[in-house]
Amino acid sequence: MAHPFTLQLSRRTVLTAATATLAASTLPFMAQAASTLSKAATMENPTIKYPKPPFETQSQPFPGLAGKMTPTPDHGETSYQGSGRLTGMRALITGGDSGMGRAAAIAYAREGADVAINYLPDEEPDAKEVIALIEKEGRKGVALPGDLRDEAFCEKLVEDAVAALGGLDILVNNAGRQQQAASLSDITTEAFDATMKTNIYAMFWLTKAALKHLQPGSAIIQTTSVQAYDPSEDLVDYAITKAAGMNFTKSMARQLGPKGIRVNGVAPGPIWTPLQVSGGATMEKLVKFGSDTPLGRPGQPAELASIYVQLADPQASYATGQIYGAAGGSGQP
Ligand code: NAD
Ligand code: MG
Repeated sequence: MAHPFTLQLSRRTVLTAATATLAASTLPFMAQAASTLSKAATMENPTIKYPKPPFETQSQPFPGLAGKMTPTPDHGETSYQGSGRLTGMRALITGGDSGMGRAAAIAYAREGADVAINYLPDEEPDAKEVIALIEKEGRKGVALPGDLRDEAFCEKLVEDAVAALGGLDILVNNAGRQQQAASLSDITTEAFDATMKTNIYAMFWLTKAALKHLQPGSAIIQTTSVQAYDPSEDLVDYAITKAAGMNFTKSMARQLGPKGIRVNGVAPGPIWTPLQVSGGATMEKLVKFGSDTPLGRPGQPAELASIYVQLADPQASYATGQIYGAAGGSGQP
């Protein structure tokens, strides 16, 4: 039996078809309105759109691969549809192999941008898939692996991206390290340093290097987190860095506003990515991941792709210094 939601959509589709026939014989603007209406037929109930907990316990060594997760995350591979919102723009996305970075990379390419991605060498299998997806859109896909904890590498990464893309208009500081630890005494100085270097220093180094190239109209986007506002007891070092990303977004928006460069952030809630299965969450938390949100499930990276597009889109020209939340109804902002 068809789901009641499907039935409702079928009636809408019939209505849309009738309107289209009428419009075709009257005015062109009415035909346009009808085609806009027909888009509503892709409406889906967000509570049942994607897998819900309980999830299988699963663990991978850091940094993990999206391709080895069960269920496999959705980054919009088969669903994201572009409409030319970023035509001709050039983007560098860190952590572009998997998770939110991969969803942004796919969406940017489908919106007409050329995209360079950075990732760790161990993530080559995920990265290869992303480059193939970008190239399938007829866009340039540039793979630039390397460790962001190194200042010289960050500078080289930006220069290599600029050389390969012919310039830079969008920088997405998205790479992140999250390793849960029950007690402060479980966080070694080495681990603390790795989290700070990956999540804060790299953002600083990359932005500084990118500013030599970004022109008015460019956009910088940070992936921060609900952890910036509402930190968990076992993510102390990580949450510090996400608060730093949120704060950096706001100070840099003020500094760069007069130069015409916009700076915004995305604050995801629980999203189904390798970060969570490679030390980011306990198995206890992973099994019920996302169950405490009003939508009753974790988000999928694909569900955030349009936010990354919106923040990069020159049409969002008055949005700067903002943090856009996507937390399934819980968390802040
Ligand atoms: P992910 O594992 O897919 O992405 C993180 C990426 O960071 C990795 O793919 C890796 O390429 C990169 N990375 C880590 N250390 C690196 C290093 N030293 N050098 C170069 N690259 C490195 O997971 P994700 O969840 O999509 O993470 C993307 C961003 O989203 C992170 O900043 C994370 O803090 C943030 N975030 C995630 C969640 C969530 O629930 N998944 C929630 C809020 C915020
Ligand atoms: Mg990855």
